[in-house]
Amino acid sequence: MKFTAPKGTRDLLPPETTAWQYAEQVFCEVCHRFGYQEIRLPTFEQTALFQRGVGETTDVVQKEMYTFDDKGGRSMTLRPEGTAGVVRSYIENGMASWPSPVRLFYMITAFRYENVQKGRYREFHQFGCEAIGAEGPAIDAELISLLDLYFKTMGLKETSLRINSIGCPQCREQYHRVLKAWLKPHLTKLCANCQERFERNPLRIIDCKEENCARLTADAPAQMDYLCQTCGDHFNGLQHQLRLLDLPFVIDRRIVRGLDYYTRTVFEFVSGHVGTQGTICGGGRYDGLIAAVGGSATPGIGFALGVERLFMELQAQEVQMPLPQPARLFIAVAGNHADEAARLCSRLRRSGIYADVDTMGRSLKAQMKYAGKSGAAAVLVLGDDEVNSGTGRLRDLASGQEIEVALDQLKNLLQPRTV
Ligand code: ATP
Ligand code: MG
Repeated sequence: MKFTAPKGTRDLLPPETTAWQYAEQVFCEVCHRFGYQEIRLPTFEQTALFQRGVGETTDVVQKEMYTFDDKGGRSMTLRPEGTAGVVRSYIENGMASWPSPVRLFYMITAFRYENVQKGRYREFHQFGCEAIGAEGPAIDAELISLLDLYFKTMGLKETSLRINSIGCPQCREQYHRVLKAWLKPHLTKLCANCQERFERNPLRIIDCKEENCARLTADAPAQMDYLCQTCGDHFNGLQHQLRLLDLPFVIDRRIVRGLDYYTRTVFEFVSGHVGTQGTICGGGRYDGLIAAVGGSATPGIGFALGVERLFMELQAQEVQMPLPQPARLFIAVAGNHADEAARLCSRLRRSGIYADVDTMGRSLKAQMKYAGKSGAAAVLVLGDDEVNSGTGRLRDLASGQEIEVALDQLKNLLQPRTV
């Protein structure tokens, strides 16, 4: 039997993993600079948390969740996104008593049973931030500013920010009425999903990915034109903040985001390079979520960045990342000096040097071949002469140059790495 990685999953291999580590390090650094701290949560949660927190009318809950009964008969679901878990933890751990706003970030794998295509996997990675407790638009702008700095630090040249407001439950009610009246004559021409959405959540029809639906609803009324005073002020405030922070944006009346708990601000960073959807990152305000999953009413906002799509974008923009390539020494064993070589190698590693030694009892010729192929920067052969004299010849594999060194001085010649 030949095993293969499950459909929609991907093995991440070296050297690609080095680039991923870099993307993670930069994300941590930028988050810390803004005062966000990392949260790590379970990969699976009770199914009901996502039903409640993501929303029964969403594609994610209706079609995409990996749900199973555990051996105790409890329904569990592999997380399809990060926010519901963070909010569950916020409530469970009493974070309402922490200094407000509570600023958290995460780096997770998420799982959705989707049609696999370019930039769309069944297991994928998200970097995300949540800021819980602040109501005004300043925090919305802060999160967008964090993302902007992250993209710039990663070396992306162009990113396109789109913002919209989807109002609050009050003004959305009026908008739903207007939208439904507008949609009614087109209803039979919409896809089956949208026909269902019509009663339960008409706003979502605007978000439909079916070409026909997108075309039919191109001129549909937008929530933007039906915002109540408070939601309108919030949206104006956000635009003021974005201008203040030199963050260019486009207002896109069609962004509604896929998840049920969003209110007011929604935003996306989009690109032409990442497949049909083009969304690298999506976020928004979720002022109703914490109360919906059992906490006391608390405003919040967050985003999730698709890491696979980020890498597609980095590649499309031909970004060169400054990936660390520490020079590694290979110690080749000549004769029967394997023990001395192992000890020398261990000493060097303990001093912070990248070092490698033969562990397979290979011939000197085979060891030299391995050194070249494995990417070692330098080689030192340890044989009778070296062991007796305490000196050896350090050979730079790229230039072929050799220098005479005292073995106990080796660690001073090579670059140590601090961790
Ligand atoms: P889409 O419209 O592309 O389906 P979404 O609205 O379902 O996206 P979110 O739930 O907002 O996506 O997730 C945030 C980000 O996670 C997306 O912008 C995207 O970059 C990434 N993402 C979502 N689903 C997938 C997937 N199946 N494979 C890879 N990345 C994904
Ligand atoms: Mg989706």
